[in-house]
Amino acid sequence: MMGPTVIRVGETVAPHQAFADYLDGRSAVIHRVALTIAEASSGPILVVTLADDQVVRWPLRDLRTIPDQAGKNQLVITSKDAPLGRLIVEDAETQRLLKARSPNLRQRPPVRGRGRIFAWSIAALASVGLIVFVLVPAMADQLAEYLPPDGEKALGDTTFEQIRNALSENEFNPVKICEDRAGMAALEQMQSRLEDETDLPYPLSVLVLDHEMVNAFALPGGRIVLFRGLIKAAETPDEVAAVLAHEIGHVVNRDPARGALRSAGSIGVLGLIFGDFAGGAAVLFMVERLIDATYSQSAEAAADSFAHDLLISGGIPPAALADFFERLRARYGDQDGIVAHFMAHPGLGDRIAKARAANSRMVGAIRPSLGELDWQDLRGICANDEG
Ligand SMILES: [Zn+2]
Repeated sequence: MMGPTVIRVGETVAPHQAFADYLDGRSAVIHRVALTIAEASSGPILVVTLADDQVVRWPLRDLRTIPDQAGKNQLVITSKDAPLGRLIVEDAETQRLLKARSPNLRQRPPVRGRGRIFAWSIAALASVGLIVFVLVPAMADQLAEYLPPDGEKALGDTTFEQIRNALSENEFNPVKICEDRAGMAALEQMQSRLEDETDLPYPLSVLVLDHEMVNAFALPGGRIVLFRGLIKAAETPDEVAAVLAHEIGHVVNRDPARGALRSAGSIGVLGLIFGDFAGGAAVLFMVERLIDATYSQSAEAAADSFAHDLLISGGIPPAALADFFERLRARYGDQDGIVAHFMAHPGLGDRIAKARAANSRMVGAIRPSLGELDWQDLRGICANDEG
């Protein structure tokens, strides 16, 4: 575990030492931060101090909680005006203090379009009763098997649009899909190279979002999203192909649908049962979860293992996955400091070792996933729209 790098105690919090993990919603780094509460004329403010003395100020009245995964004793907080920021508070005394002093903590965090869907959720819950909170989540894994492909695809499509909005600076300009013609051709070439080696439950749809985050994820229905930041961070096309192969592993294992159902919980599952694939509350929860989604360690191991086999049969060394992970680890610090989905901790060191070990199973000739010119084209996929 990480040790705190900064502990600064504010007078109003003393003698209790308050610190937490902070994500700014843009980079993939977890910052260990000190918390203090300052009194301002407009009301009390939570002051979040990062290790480099950068300071984020969130008025206590703007704080909202994010429903956390069951079984963890964390309080996950966001601010009304910084909906992608996350403060993860583990210490019980700090949680108690924040709960006591933040009047709107229990309000839903802001996600665009929430009003209508939240009203819908309340109505759905009122009509069915609380028992679904107990029964339905337990059924999520099984239900994922029965989601009709069309419904799963609609859920993925809608979620994708919500993510584009949530990541954008401006609510009227969703994050751009990179469409440079030559870059897209290179991406398709890489995709079909991998696709040819496997049987998929549905056709893949792979695209790049014009966002700096070093991240990639799969959505229900076979959509795989790579971020511009990930392609930029890769040093070889094989590293991008390795991440793509990992995400294809999630698609084949249907992890996105299962994860969506599980994190959406009762409300989302009800929406799916009643056929509200495209507009249900599931989407809201998924937007929050998928951006920094982590599947279980076993799901990640299964996707890695799938990726190793897929890469080997395509003539691409699985060590590329290890190379990429290692470089990101060197750049972003230890494994606990990385939240990009495919870097999900724990066990990054183990994942690197397994990818290296899988390399010894390479028997045929190595074929780079893209030639040098195509690789340059892929790197320029977000450059402009006209190719
Ligand atoms: Zn993964």
